Amino acid sequence: MRWSRYFLPTLKEDPAEAETASHRLMLRAGLIRKLSSGIYNLLPLGLRASRKVENIVREEMNRIGGIEILMPVLSPAELWMESGRWHVYGKELMRVRDRHDRFFALGPTHEEVVTDIVRKEVRSYRQLPLILYQIQTKFRDELRPRFGVVRAREFIMKDAYSFHRDEKSLAETYDKMYEAYTRIFTRCGLKFGPVEADSGAIGGDVTHEFMVFAETGESQVLACECGYAATSDTAEGKVPQYRPDEKQKPLEKVATPGMKTVEEVTSYLGKQPWQLLKTIIYNADGQFIGVLIRGDRQINEIKLKRVLNAVELRMADAAEIEKITGGPLGFSGPVGLEGLRLLADRSLEGMVNMVTGANEVDAHYVNVNLGRDFTVKEFYDLSIASEGDLCTRCGRPLRVWRGIEVGQIFKLGTKYSQAMKATFLDEDGKENPFVMGCYGIGITRTVAAAIEQNNDTDGISWPIGIAPFEVLILPTNVTNPELSQTAENIYSELHARGLEVLLDDRDERPGNKFKDADLIGIPFRVTVGEKGAREGIVELRRRKTGEIQRIPKQEAVETVTAVVNKEKSEATVS
Ligand SMILES: [Zn+2]
Repeated sequence: MRWSRYFLPTLKEDPAEAETASHRLMLRAGLIRKLSSGIYNLLPLGLRASRKVENIVREEMNRIGGIEILMPVLSPAELWMESGRWHVYGKELMRVRDRHDRFFALGPTHEEVVTDIVRKEVRSYRQLPLILYQIQTKFRDELRPRFGVVRAREFIMKDAYSFHRDEKSLAETYDKMYEAYTRIFTRCGLKFGPVEADSGAIGGDVTHEFMVFAETGESQVLACECGYAATSDTAEGKVPQYRPDEKQKPLEKVATPGMKTVEEVTSYLGKQPWQLLKTIIYNADGQFIGVLIRGDRQINEIKLKRVLNAVELRMADAAEIEKITGGPLGFSGPVGLEGLRLLADRSLEGMVNMVTGANEVDAHYVNVNLGRDFTVKEFYDLSIASEGDLCTRCGRPLRVWRGIEVGQIFKLGTKYSQAMKATFLDEDGKENPFVMGCYGIGITRTVAAAIEQNNDTDGISWPIGIAPFEVLILPTNVTNPELSQTAENIYSELHARGLEVLLDDRDERPGNKFKDADLIGIPFRVTVGEKGAREGIVELRRRKTGEIQRIPKQEAVETVTAVVNKEKSEATVS
């Protein structure tokens, strides 16, 4: 490709809206352009990287016996009603209506559609196991789209679905997928970790997320030296307990003028945050509930939703709180709230003489005791595990790291096949529901995650496996016929040898060309400069390390081919 004839609009300045390195660099290096909130155009360089990821994914899916299909983006509401997800998916499901007033979903995932295919076409256990996959555009109406293509409303995904006669066969395919995912992200040049996760709206029991290590990642992972690793949505840690060895003191109401937050109240009363009992009122699918948790802990709303089996969960607003408790926001407490369903986090077990809101303005109770002053029947793990909580497997402290989720694999069991009456005949001629698994990879998100992990102050530094081009040829002055000709020769010979080469044939100042070269981050750069030309030398520079090799002009093609192929073979997984 010749840069002068290509479509590669780079930006000199950092775009203001970009919060993360990948978002900023994808815009600056001309990979993407925003069309609307959470909706992006993939420009040629971005598309090439994205296709590289797709091809790696395709090869690895085919290697484990996956068969590629393409399902429609639009799927009829009836299918989603059969599975129950037309309701359960909530507002993230994009819905459209056709001219006959029939409703459709813009697919965020395709369990319903693929189950419909298989229930119509697969009859016998002899046809199992079956792995079908597609690489396609997906939709999710995110509340807060951000970080460019990382949390977008439209994105490219690989989604695979497996059908089995029993759990044992599913477990075998799940393990193969786990290995395939490990190969895929290794080939993409990523540093990642598989972690236990929440299955969310997809459903099912066992699930792993593949998380790319990144400071700016939205996902928080808690990990232990013993190998346990889980997202903060699901991670369980033993909360360090405070069991004050003191007798119950008489309940007392105290004035706390204007003190609403945990910090304000506890410091005003000369207490520690863990001595306070927070009471948070939620609305879960239309019902109000109260959640009690220790003052130094945060509620994990995903765990809470799972305990309640709720679809929509939101915090009550100030007016609702006033109506339910009789007091304003910031002064809620469990004493006297008999009418409200109360759930308590396990961090409150064994606590005595706690501080709580008194359900009236500017007042708190001190020396509140569970069992004496209020009762709770429901105790659950409802808190976000945090650094220093103890591993439930081995007792060592958990450590926190952040990441971007690029893939997830699920064991679905018979959730969809039972709901949609998808069955096959076994050896005895008996009907059984298919046992299913599903397996996703965010293609565009993987590109962003790779950039998040591979960049420096000058720009992107692509891993060879997914680089849009492998080699950039940069003649410093195209008006010099000798330089121009040398560059052209190297370009066409490398191209003939099957390398992916970009020739910067623009008539630009060398400074600008070097800046753009670093920004777009092609792994190898061949500089054809005036001084070198006089000596019959070209320079080979490695983007990642900045390391420069001076090569005689006539050896350039051989050397560059060898270096690139070596790098590629090292990035391949056998
Ligand atoms: Zn452990």
